[in-house]
Amino acid sequence: MNAVALITGASRGIGRGIALELAKIGCDLTINFRSNESAAQQTVQTCVAAAKACGHSIRAEMFKADIAQSEDRRKLIAFAKSTFGRLDILVNNAGIAPEARADILDASEESFDRVLNTNAKGPYFLTQLVARWMIEQVNRAGDNGKAKPKIVTISSISAYTASPNRGEYCVAKAALSMLTPLFAARLAEYGINVYEIRPGIIDTDMTQAVKAKYDKLIHEGLTPIPRWGTPEDVGLAVVAIARDFMPFSTGQIIDVDGGFHVRRL
Ligand code: NAD
Repeated sequence: MNAVALITGASRGIGRGIALELAKIGCDLTINFRSNESAAQQTVQTCVAAAKACGHSIRAEMFKADIAQSEDRRKLIAFAKSTFGRLDILVNNAGIAPEARADILDASEESFDRVLNTNAKGPYFLTQLVARWMIEQVNRAGDNGKAKPKIVTISSISAYTASPNRGEYCVAKAALSMLTPLFAARLAEYGINVYEIRPGIIDTDMTQAVKAKYDKLIHEGLTPIPRWGTPEDVGLAVVAIARDFMPFSTGQIIDVDGGFHVRRL
């Protein structure tokens, strides 16, 4: 039986990269998207083809839901339950940047609420729903070690790096970073490990607007590994978790950032 994964915001970018790497190891997938149905369809097709090329037969389904909306979160989980019957890995990936970068002295409450609702509140309560479901699964499976579900949250170096022209994004990612220790502490007794992946500068649509700025910074030595990260880099870290390669680690932060976090003199 294939392991089953649910990835939020997986129609493009890092979410799509994670879905693709999980497909290659034979996971069935729920591809959540908010608006772009044809991009989500493309993710589904690419994942099924990539799995096949690796010798796996997988089922990939897509489901439209805005993770910032309570009712949508409920429907997403109801869909995943009725479609696959169980969940082995939740990936909280969906996230947004502020619509416009604005100085912290001017930025609006509206933008703060929008970014916090999607980047922090949405994953927090989605994880709550999923955690309850995972506990039911573990209790059903008994203590034979068969059910070892996992939760992964994609945060950002912005959880600890100040960008005063997008403060609400930084505050949201810092808040999101508390999700992992909280759920790790609560779920360890059920054998459910919880991880945070902290990407650095990753080449996606989200970073296109600042491409020239980051090209220059990387060229000047911002990161010890002197290149942009890719969705595949993040996907491979999720694969390590999905494969249970870190069974005695929970509440762990995994930096996928080319060494950005290393202090240097
Ligand atoms: P992206 O904008 O290319 O993709 C984000 C996806 O999430 C989109 O498909 C979008 O539709 C979806 N999404 C947004 N709000 C949603 C909602 N309310 N409900 C459902 N889906 C929603 O961005 P990306 O670069 O792929 O980023 C993915 C995640 O990684 C985000 O959480 C982002 O904050 C984080 N991240 C990105 C970078 C980077 O450099 N690109 C770095 C660190 C962290």
